[in-house]
Amino acid sequence: FPSKVTGDLEDCACDVETIDGFNNDQLFPKLQTLLESDYFRFYKVNLNKPCPFWKVQSHCGLKLCAVQPCSPNEVPEGIRSPSHNKVTEANDNQDTCEQEKHLGAVDVSLSNETREALLSWSKHDDEAERFCVVDDEESPDSQYVDLLLNPERYTGYKGPEAWQIWNSIYEENCFKPSTIQRPLIPGLFQSTQTFHLKSQCVEKRAFYRLISGLHASINIHLSARYLLDDSWFQRKWGHNVTEFRQRFDSELTAGEGPKRLRNLYFLYLIELRALAKVLPFFQQPSFRLYTGRPAEDQKHKELLLDILQQARNFPLHFDETSLFTGDEIEGAKLKEDIRLAFLNISRIMDCVGCFKCRLWGKLQTQGLGTALKILFSERQIEALKPKSSGERPSFQLSRQEIVSLLNAFGRISTSIRELKNFRALLAEER
Ligand code: FAD
Repeated sequence: FPSKVTGDLEDCACDVETIDGFNNDQLFPKLQTLLESDYFRFYKVNLNKPCPFWKVQSHCGLKLCAVQPCSPNEVPEGIRSPSHNKVTEANDNQDTCEQEKHLGAVDVSLSNETREALLSWSKHDDEAERFCVVDDEESPDSQYVDLLLNPERYTGYKGPEAWQIWNSIYEENCFKPSTIQRPLIPGLFQSTQTFHLKSQCVEKRAFYRLISGLHASINIHLSARYLLDDSWFQRKWGHNVTEFRQRFDSELTAGEGPKRLRNLYFLYLIELRALAKVLPFFQQPSFRLYTGRPAEDQKHKELLLDILQQARNFPLHFDETSLFTGDEIEGAKLKEDIRLAFLNISRIMDCVGCFKCRLWGKLQTQGLGTALKILFSERQIEALKPKSSGERPSFQLSRQEIVSLLNAFGRISTSIRELKNFRALLAEER
């Protein structure tokens, strides 16, 4: 296990014990409560989008890959129906639907004047700001999924198809550092590009570590919720220490395992920092976690603000000057490079053959994409303050982005918590 989060980037020398204590004792329990709320447990997703890159072999046959979508009446009406929000009753055309879609996160008990203002804000083309392909929520193929009923865990998705996804992400979309000379899967794919680690800016080097951290997190989850027994009378899930060791033990992975765990902590710190930065957005009085049940919504908004405030108080954030804060011109170019690479990664998620893995892969890339959008929008967020009516805030998040941001962070936070369990299990074995 690593003790410090260090590596290629000098800007992150953080004490793992401090992160563990902060996450496991303070943030993790609160996050679990928040993510069980109706606002955060229902995620709208299109799992039937065709893969834009290659032909995918379906894994519908793998029963552990199945995703159970919600029937319409399981989802609170306030979440399900934008028109129920009655943002504008008079205008019923397509344009209005488009606008209402973006207002899912905004308080609907507002004056007509403020509602008008919100509608005009949403005319802005948010696509240009996104780091992720967002599923069309109006598509008949998009469905609500209850995340609590479809947990991320072992599915049996593995082999060349899973490798092809990871390989394609690292080889083609990850500003891959030059230290990785070999193809990721020996003999299967050939690297066609040469990368120069030192010539890359710090954000591009960070990008590789974020993806590697996400990969580590997924593999921790499948080791922690492994199918231990699948006999006809019972199905037992639990920790598989052998699986974990094969993936992260220093000796068994020629030293790569601990690096991957450091990348997980690095990802944790990046997403934590995004949560800290986005606090002013959620503090806006017009923002509400709208499900249609005011008392509950208010309680969950307070819990969310508490979590974000705690993220802000965390003492070990990166050096503020080192990441995502370049000068205006360089910064814009960098943002665009990273945004495009990330957009591509989010498209690759439609090529994941196992629906359960696709669901969580899409959610987590969207969550990380939202975190990057936040980090690149720092100035706009800090400038948020109550605006006069008609003036559009320069920063917005849709409900889908909010749900994915918090759930993605919840996954990483759970992985950090699971490392504590694996440490204890490994100690017992000795
Ligand atoms: P893989 O994890 O497939 O890794 C391929 C190669 O990448 C390894 O040989 C190694 O060289 C390198 N590598 C491994 N980890 C890292 C890292 N952290 N950083 C950098 N390089 C690394 N399986 C499930 O059971 N449940 C799931 O929910 C699930 N979700 C998935 C979501 C996505 C998007 C994808 C692509 C796969 C998912 N999988 C899931 C499959 C799982 O991630 C593995 O691919 C599978 O278990 C096979 O593992 P493996 O040991 O062959 O190596």
